[in-house]
Amino acid sequence: MSYDPSNIFAKILRGEIPCDKVFEDDHALAFKDIRPQAPVHVLIIPKGAYVSSSDFSAKASAEEIAGFTRAIHAVAEKMGVLDAGYRLIANTGANGLQEVPHFHVHLLGGRALGPMLTRPR
Ligand code: 5GP
Repeated sequence: MSYDPSNIFAKILRGEIPCDKVFEDDHALAFKDIRPQAPVHVLIIPKGAYVSSSDFSAKASAEEIAGFTRAIHAVAEKMGVLDAGYRLIANTGANGLQEVPHFHVHLLGGRALGPMLTRPR
C-alpha cells in the first residue's frame, strides 16, 4: 500500500487540521485521540510518511525508529502513567482495523484497562 498524503494525520502533521498536542520533537508528534477510550488516550505518530507499523519497521532508518521509541517514553512520562502502567496499541491493516493509514501508536492509561482484546463477534 502506498502512502496517501491526504490522510487525516498527514493533514495534522502539516498543520492543516488542529490537534490537542501533547508532545513534539524532530521524529514524532503526539496528540490526544478525538474519541478517547481511556482517561489517557494519546496518538503518537512519526513525522515520516509511513502507512503502518510494518511499513515503519521495514523502511524507517535506525534514527527514526530510535527517535520514535524515545518519543513514546516521553509521552508516557508527560502523561504521568509511567508508574501505574499503560498500554500501547498499533492497529495494522484490515484485520487490525487500522482506520488511518499513517502509522500511529495508541497510548492508553489512567485506569486499569481490562483484558487486551474483546471477544470476537
Ligand atoms: P486506528 O483505528 O487507525 O488505530 O485509530 C485511529 C484513531 O484516530 C481513532 O482512535 C480515532 O478516534 C482517531 N482519530 C481519527 N480522526 C482523528 C482526528 O481528526 N483527530 C484526532 N485527534 N484523532 C482522530
